[in-house]
Amino acid sequence: MFTKILIANRGEIACRVAATARRLGVRTVAVYSDADASAKHVAACDEAVHIGGSAPKDSYLQWERIIEAAKATGAQAIHPGYGFLSENDAFANACANAGIAFIGPPASAILAMGLKAESKQLMEKAGVPLVPGYHAADQDPALLQREANRIGYPVLIKASAGGGGKGMRAVDKAEDFEAALASCQREARNSFGSDAVLIEKYVQRPRHIEIQVFGDTHGNCVYLFERDCSVQRRHQKVLEEAPAPGMTPEFRAQMGAAAVAAAKAVNYVGAGTVEFIVEQPPEGGMRFYFMEMNTRLQVEHPVTEAITGLDLVEWQLRVAGGEPLPLKQEELRIHGHAIEARICAETPDNNFLPATGTLTVYRKPDCTAFERGVVRVDDGVREGDTISPFYDSMVAKLIVHGATRAEALARMDAALAETRIVGLSTNVQFLRHVVNSPSFAQANLDTALIPREAAVLFHQDKVGLALAVASAVAQTLVAERAVEAADPFSRRDGWRPHGLTVRRFDFEYLGESLLAHLTYLHDGALQLTFGEVSGVLQFDTLPTEGGARMDLQFQGQRQTVQTWQLGEIVHVFCALGATQITEIDALAHAGVAAADGGRLTAPMPGKVLSFAVKAGDVIKKGQALAVMEAMKMEHTIAAPADGTVAELLYAPGDQVSEGAELLKITTA
Ligand code: ADP
Ligand code: ADP
Ligand code: MG
Repeated sequence: MFTKILIANRGEIACRVAATARRLGVRTVAVYSDADASAKHVAACDEAVHIGGSAPKDSYLQWERIIEAAKATGAQAIHPGYGFLSENDAFANACANAGIAFIGPPASAILAMGLKAESKQLMEKAGVPLVPGYHAADQDPALLQREANRIGYPVLIKASAGGGGKGMRAVDKAEDFEAALASCQREARNSFGSDAVLIEKYVQRPRHIEIQVFGDTHGNCVYLFERDCSVQRRHQKVLEEAPAPGMTPEFRAQMGAAAVAAAKAVNYVGAGTVEFIVEQPPEGGMRFYFMEMNTRLQVEHPVTEAITGLDLVEWQLRVAGGEPLPLKQEELRIHGHAIEARICAETPDNNFLPATGTLTVYRKPDCTAFERGVVRVDDGVREGDTISPFYDSMVAKLIVHGATRAEALARMDAALAETRIVGLSTNVQFLRHVVNSPSFAQANLDTALIPREAAVLFHQDKVGLALAVASAVAQTLVAERAVEAADPFSRRDGWRPHGLTVRRFDFEYLGESLLAHLTYLHDGALQLTFGEVSGVLQFDTLPTEGGARMDLQFQGQRQTVQTWQLGEIVHVFCALGATQITEIDALAHAGVAAADGGRLTAPMPGKVLSFAVKAGDVIKKGQALAVMEAMKMEHTIAAPADGTVAELLYAPGDQVSEGAELLKITTA
């Protein structure tokens, strides 16, 4: 085993690799860019080396500097993580030439699998089933068009050097082919520096099922079962699970054997993933075809770890150090079911537009509250960190394990409900909607799941208006009490012996303005009214760090609610979901309707809104006499005793100064 490794990556995967290294007593060296100077992955390693500017091309892709850093720190091996240099055969070669072990496959295997087209020709020879298609070198547009016509529409044009869903174009009919080809080539040239394409039959109702393989330097190769990654947006994975629902032992064995054959065809060593596209023909059954091999550790490897009970990074380190695979095929078993969700900084309701910003609040599900090992969070950020535009938008991976898929599903929903992020938009609520959608819940999986379920996935707000308003009002009162606790002379609980204080709150919710009134009733209860809604608001505060947490009751709903106010926006989280409500002018202030003898005075400078009485009216104690508005709140001025109105001293709309007498009464 190595005694020191360098991790040539950042974010969650760098932290993930560091965790296993630490457990095995292997020292770690981090590398970092300007933007990552105080990143979590730097703190997770024993030493760190600055390698350049924030853009990946100035740092994480600067492989000469990374090899220099390894030499300077005495690291014996480099773990490339995923992305960046992980599938760069020149880098793997450079490591070997520098006498540093590359924790990954031989450069020749990376090269062989790196190009989608060439790898397909190789797989054809190895007897691995392929999607009907064209993947030869001749790129004459007329020939490509003829090939597409031969394959039959719909077809998919892929960038031969592509990855991450980039450059892919589905074409429904021959007339659209030429334009789609040009656009695919353009994107491919910009993203991958090569505009070579391949054409495949567009598989109907496809599922993405991939097989984790592992080879060693002693000629062994095993498969660690499958992952279903069918839930995708723009050909990128959103949720991944293992095992694949509906998989039979026979089909699994066939796919496993094909994956091992694919790996052996390129003398594969280390962790790799063979991606298959699985057709679900209307007549039933499944057929699988090779798509590509990813010659690295995959983002979704934790679901495989969960069901096998293995640490794949440990296997990578052992294999790279020359040890044989720890287990044989027949010793590998599947335990239960695991699901991973990729939590990303993005706006699902706005076409998944990536978001950047600061993780002002970042609370993870309490992994210890569940059975050990059942909920796992892999991340590379801490509260207060920023998600910058330089790197990808993944904030964290949430992985759950259960005895059955149903159990894992319920845990995923609960864990997502407990994930609280404030400061930038994320897909957390969207992921909950996906998990709870009929298709996902019933394992009716294919890559079109998200568009098919769009009606229940986008523009959803499960919290609802009533709870949002109640939470925002309660959170204001909780915040005020905290101020009062620190300063007992600023009591503003609204309780008055003779009057009902009514406070006004201006909100904006889902783009609509709304006015709410909170009345402090004589018995101390709070009546909350807005629009057609009116009810008693009750809440008890619960201990929490930052923000407010309360057991809240309103309109027959009882929820544990957590809120954070950032500027005017109140972020509300509860088991139902999360939402935001804007409290316009959060400056909370309370009024005091003074009542001394026959003089009824204005508690503060403000405006008289209305009188409920006129001169000569007989009044009862507690009866509302006038309403005034001050500091955006309405205050009802009530009769301190039975009596008669003698005179109104102002008219509605008048501005009054503090202490101004509003009306005269004669008490009985
Ligand atoms: P998976 O490992 O599940 O197949 P992807 O194919 O989406 O996941 O890519 C893995 C990760 O690597 C993603 O976070 C992606 O942003 C990143 N990535 C992919 N290609 C590159 C690249 N050329 N340079 C840097 N990062 C990349
Ligand atoms: P990338 O390298 O960008 O990950 P892949 O070839 O792995 O590209 O394909 C990514 C996704 O595109 C798959 O998971 C699948 O959803 C979709 N896809 C790929 N090939 C086909 C096909 N022939 N028919 C239908 N969908 C496909
Ligand atoms: Mg892929």
